[in-house]
Amino acid sequence: MEVRLLDIKRQYETIRADVEEAVQSVFDSCGFILGLTVRDFETEMADYCGVTGAVGVASGTDALLLSCRACGIEHGEEVITTPYTFFATGGAIWNAGGRPAFADIDPATFNIDPERIEDAITDKTRAIMPVHLFGQMADMDPILEIAEKRGLKVIEDAAQAIGAEYKGKRAGALGDLGCFSFFPSKNLGAAGDGGMVVAADDELLDKVRVLRAHGSRQNYVHDVVGWNSRLDALQAAVLSVKLRHLAGWSDGRRAHAAIYDAAFVEMDEVSPPPVLEGCTPIYNQYVIRATDRDGLKNFLAESGIGCAIYYPLSLHEQACFTDLGYRAGDFPESERAAGESLSLPVYSELREEEQQFVLAKVKEFYAR
Ligand SMILES: *Cc1c(COP(=O)(O)O)cnc(C)c1O
Repeated sequence: MEVRLLDIKRQYETIRADVEEAVQSVFDSCGFILGLTVRDFETEMADYCGVTGAVGVASGTDALLLSCRACGIEHGEEVITTPYTFFATGGAIWNAGGRPAFADIDPATFNIDPERIEDAITDKTRAIMPVHLFGQMADMDPILEIAEKRGLKVIEDAAQAIGAEYKGKRAGALGDLGCFSFFPSKNLGAAGDGGMVVAADDELLDKVRVLRAHGSRQNYVHDVVGWNSRLDALQAAVLSVKLRHLAGWSDGRRAHAAIYDAAFVEMDEVSPPPVLEGCTPIYNQYVIRATDRDGLKNFLAESGIGCAIYYPLSLHEQACFTDLGYRAGDFPESERAAGESLSLPVYSELREEEQQFVLAKVKEFYAR
């Protein structure tokens, strides 16, 4: 048996006719840039996230970058974030003109530890960028409290967390701005790149909207220098179809996660990912901590099971960030997670016999 880490083709087969019809309607109208298709999808996303507005952009990375600029980050001002994340979190802060400043993670959730944030604050700090890693919410209440007290903006990197909930609110609706990615492997994946910024703050969102179109409000008049970063109408059409299925797909992922959880709590060598109280995760990844992680990974791969390490090298150890002045050992929990974590197949279309095969192989590895 071969079990893939993610099989987007299997999902596509279930919605093929609707996607093809939506794509055809964009060609029929030849309205490829912004227009009604994008505006409708922005409204649907705002409703889904429980905010008042949304701006479609070219990628999740651009959502973060434009959000930093909308919050006024520039000239090496600092944004506090986690070192244990996909590279784009730090890269976007850097490319906006800021500097990422790291605070170590809570080992239970893999997310930024609010108790470590205040230590990272300097007189150059302007914002906090929590990442809801793997689809599990960062502990937002203490983060929002620190931000309020210190006058900092909060930009949520919700690229992996669409629809995840924190005490009744959805990812993206808690900070000043919320950023999403529609990279095909995200829970709501486009047929290419795409991203979105959502918010209840119309003024900030308006800045993002201007920045995505060369900083221009009126054609050929530019008060600020922006980017060309728009969500394609073709992508919006595809995403609009898929958004209708998202809640069901998230339920499917949670059902698979519950089956893994029940099996792994019985084992000493494997820890399932605990869920923060009052939160509903969406499992963009199902990530365990495992004894002899590299051995397990190789054994599963040899058995035909897709699995992956997210992320093998923390941001503070990346060569491109040497200038930030961090070194190995600075964020021990992040580094430990990099050495112990392993992502297993959890997508909604995963079949029961496939998941049982994964579980059997994990058990077989430790029984040897
Ligand atoms: C995917 C991802 C991004 C970047 O999104 P792109 O659409 O690929 O640019 C940013 N942050 C996190 C945590 C991500 O997982």
